[in-house]
Amino acid sequence: MEPWQKILQSSITTPNGLQEHVDCDSNALLDVIANFPMRINPYFLKLIQHPGDPLWKQAVPDPAEIHDGICTDDPLGEENLSPVPNLVHKYPDRVLFLVSNTCAMYCRFCTRKRKVGTDKMRISPDTLNAGYAYMRQHPEIREVLISGGDPLLLPDEDIAAILHNLRSIRSIEIIRIGTRVPSVLPMRITRKLVSILKAHHPLYINTHFNHPNEITAESSKACTMLADAGIPMGCQTVLLKGINDDAQTLKKLFVGLLRIRVKPYYLFQADLTKGTNHFRTTTETGIAIMRQLYGHISGMAIPTYALDGPNGKGKIPLTPQYIMERGDTLVFENFKGEICTYPEAGESC
Ligand SMILES: *Cc1c(COP(=O)(O)O)cnc(C)c1O
Ligand code: SF4
Repeated sequence: MEPWQKILQSSITTPNGLQEHVDCDSNALLDVIANFPMRINPYFLKLIQHPGDPLWKQAVPDPAEIHDGICTDDPLGEENLSPVPNLVHKYPDRVLFLVSNTCAMYCRFCTRKRKVGTDKMRISPDTLNAGYAYMRQHPEIREVLISGGDPLLLPDEDIAAILHNLRSIRSIEIIRIGTRVPSVLPMRITRKLVSILKAHHPLYINTHFNHPNEITAESSKACTMLADAGIPMGCQTVLLKGINDDAQTLKKLFVGLLRIRVKPYYLFQADLTKGTNHFRTTTETGIAIMRQLYGHISGMAIPTYALDGPNGKGKIPLTPQYIMERGDTLVFENFKGEICTYPEAGESC
């Protein structure tokens, strides 16, 4: 067994196990875990500073998860948009391909909470083969996003086989991997894994960090190893109430990510996933935060703030409004709130 597999094996998965390490009401958590699994690995556990801190809230179950009367199981309509199981074809030129049903930690706010980490998510050689066949029959698909679950929790040989199969489809140009391993189990990024990934370029990785406390010596090393292998690294952060819903925290996170060569790509408005309503902020909060970022930190550190439209409508960018008046002259505010003008083409300056 590899060292990262051993670490994963000593994860906390039961309320009693959790109680040995932190103060919590384990009875209240039993019901939650019966619905939505828990996995807190020793690496991530060490990063939690105190009960209720931003990392705790991402990892430790909350009774609010089973008292969510507002949200739905599959808000993005993924199951309806799947022509074959575990493959979502929503956009014309790219597909989402789910290849793993486990993660190095079960994030309490997960969008695929309905099935990730449970036997409701069935991945098998048959579903993988059906996915390859679908992509072969649809040459308009230029890009495949491998996700799950976390694809990088699969054994090296399985990852190599998936990448090899995808590379044998001539119309697939870009392979993108979505993985939270760099922030929750960075020791999974081994030299062997990096050499497998590197052999299948052009390959991009979008990872997932939500709080500056996740940027550690270990996670920095993992991202550096991937970047050194020529893999462009992006980050998909979720805007989470009580975790990162303020400009100071997100500035620190996004600037810190650039330093470890990860480009903030998306900041997601929380989806309407059942069991996660207590993490939702208003979009007004998100837009106000974005306004405090534009111009104030490097443009490279600024992600697109996006809402994934319910029922599979796709991602919609939510951008602060700078334009105040349109006409022969455009009137707008700058990042400092100063009023500026710009004469449109054809007008005199
Ligand atoms: C998010 C998503 C993508 C990728 O969208 P990008 O804007 O290219 O990052 C593709 N397919 C599905 C189903 C998605 O949810
Ligand atoms: S790593 Fe991603 S897929 Fe896995 S539980 Fe967290 S959010 Fe969900």
